[in-house]
Amino acid sequence: MKKLTIAIDGHSSCGKSTLAKQLAAKLNYSYVDTGAMYRCVTLFAFNKDLIVNGLIDENSLVSQLNQINIHFQYNENLGKSETFLNDENVENEIRSLKISDMVSPIAKIKEVRAFLVEQQQKMGKQGGIVMDGRDIGTVVFPNADLKLFMTASVEVRAQRRFLELSETDNFASINDIKKNIEERDFIDSNREESPLRKADDAYVLDNSNLTREEQLAWILEKISNLKI
Ligand code: C5P
Repeated sequence: MKKLTIAIDGHSSCGKSTLAKQLAAKLNYSYVDTGAMYRCVTLFAFNKDLIVNGLIDENSLVSQLNQINIHFQYNENLGKSETFLNDENVENEIRSLKISDMVSPIAKIKEVRAFLVEQQQKMGKQGGIVMDGRDIGTVVFPNADLKLFMTASVEVRAQRRFLELSETDNFASINDIKKNIEERDFIDSNREESPLRKADDAYVLDNSNLTREEQLAWILEKISNLKI
């Protein structure tokens, strides 16, 4: 079978990356977490003092985008891929609520999107990739072989993210997490530049009541039915 390009989009914290990782491992494909790339740009902006009191110095950020180098590296010991910003492992830092609170305003900036989309398209050029984000099936790979749009109730999503963060040193209350998820969904869906929306040819998966095994089985069945 040809090496597929699989695009997974959807609302914040609904398990896109969990499913994308499961799928990539099962098919022996590479996995790209595009949300981590927007989070890296946000961390870069904080590090350069380009976000002050919630205000972004957009012009300076855009002029410094060429100083941002993002790569992913597989950690054998942890059995997962980690995110590096300018050769520094930032995997935990980019998941904090401080970054989550500013990432959607950063992701609205047209030049930031163009900068990251170009890299994402290069990463997926050969196929054999599962990429998750908000605009993968609509903008990054409009011709993807399989597109998925994921969602789940906001309560379920907040609870899952709370448990995930509790395993790291990024503690946040469930109410703050829920507020952040709702705010990001709103900004992501209403922005001018590549808003979050379901591609016309995407399958919808609401996983509020599905286990990880059930959602993997669901998508594998869709793949086995592909006419390629
Ligand atoms: O996937 P994750 O929740 O880590 O994404 C963080 C944020 O990055 C999203 O809320 C969205 O604002 C932005 N994003 C985006 N386009 C993508 C991936 C993420 O705008 N392809």
